[in-house]
Amino acid sequence: MLKKELIHELSRVLAGGRVSTKEPMSLHTTFKTGGAVDVFAEPSSVEELKRALELLKGERFYLIGNGSNLLVSDKGLRGVAVHLAKGFGDIRVEGTTLICGAAATLSQIARAALDHSLTGFEFAAGIPGSLGGAIVMNAGAYDGEMRQVVKSVTLIDYQGGIVQKGVEEMRFGYRHSLLKEADWIVLEAKLVLQKGDASKIREKMDDLAARRRAKQPLEYPSAGSTFKRPEGYFAAKLIQDAGLRGFCVGGAQVSDKHCGFVINRENATSADIYALIREVQRKVKECSGVTLETEVICLGEFDE
Ligand SMILES: Cc1cc2nc3c(=O)[nH]c(=O)nc-3n(C[C@H](O)[C@H](O)[C@H](O)COP(=O)(O)OP(=O)(O)OC[C@H]3O[C@@H](n4cnc5c(N)ncnc54)[C@H](O)[C@@H]3O)c2cc1C
Repeated sequence: MLKKELIHELSRVLAGGRVSTKEPMSLHTTFKTGGAVDVFAEPSSVEELKRALELLKGERFYLIGNGSNLLVSDKGLRGVAVHLAKGFGDIRVEGTTLICGAAATLSQIARAALDHSLTGFEFAAGIPGSLGGAIVMNAGAYDGEMRQVVKSVTLIDYQGGIVQKGVEEMRFGYRHSLLKEADWIVLEAKLVLQKGDASKIREKMDDLAARRRAKQPLEYPSAGSTFKRPEGYFAAKLIQDAGLRGFCVGGAQVSDKHCGFVINRENATSADIYALIREVQRKVKECSGVTLETEVICLGEFDE
């Protein structure tokens, strides 16, 4: 547990934000599972974030976006969860460029794009992440991905140094970016879209949303596709072929609507979800020889 003085100091420097102790991470993950983090800290400005980073030197901390790609242990997290919130969510539109804070959600950005008749971001409207998390993951759907729209990203390192990186420096790949390799925090990004027709943009967003509703178990808590797409295969098909459609561990289930989604069907714990993921990986390997890697990021301790 962090020293009381450090928590006190954090509360002092994050005067415009929020600091709480023993915050349940189930409140901050779309799986709606996960134990308590020692300290949950929400800086409200870059200045506050810098001062928090200064205090947290040598301490364990985790960046949390919308928690839509995270599985947090039931034992919780030792250290500090840093969540960028108020003050990091601005969206400014200048011509065809959107300058967006890391906490802006993809649906808010999509809405702003629609309001300004800008096309190219429709693919992301239904991804329930923040801009920060989407850049880390190079989130994508329906033939679109973040790397196609990002022009540059403003990052802060753990020493408080701020740099701007162009898209070519971001090392974007399939669910991959530079941020998976190095300790940076996304503060802001510039996205470039094209002038379009508002009614066509809306139509495309509505169509993609309908396709999601038809195919994905959006009625249950999940973290979207649990596994990455293995080269040359589809994770959902491999899982189905392994006879795992609807397979359950405790309250966790391989969705029978979409086998690529592990869902929190009924009061699942993170341990249920983790055990289910491991079993799916084992059976798929046994049946097809293919190794399924998780797209979901596991934080904290899990029993093997
Ligand atoms: C129903 C559903 C549907 C989904 N559909 C899709 C889809 O179609 N395509 C897709 O790609 N994903 C999809 N996802 C997964 C998820 O929404 C994306 O991966 C999203 O980009 C994660 O963003 P987040 O803000 O929730 O990040 P989190 O899950 O909170 O974090 C993800 C990673 O980013 C890091 N991070 C977060 N913010 C920052 C920051 N500011 N600076 C540095 N690091 C940061 C975290 O430390 C973590 O490593 C879906 C999820 C759900 C629940």
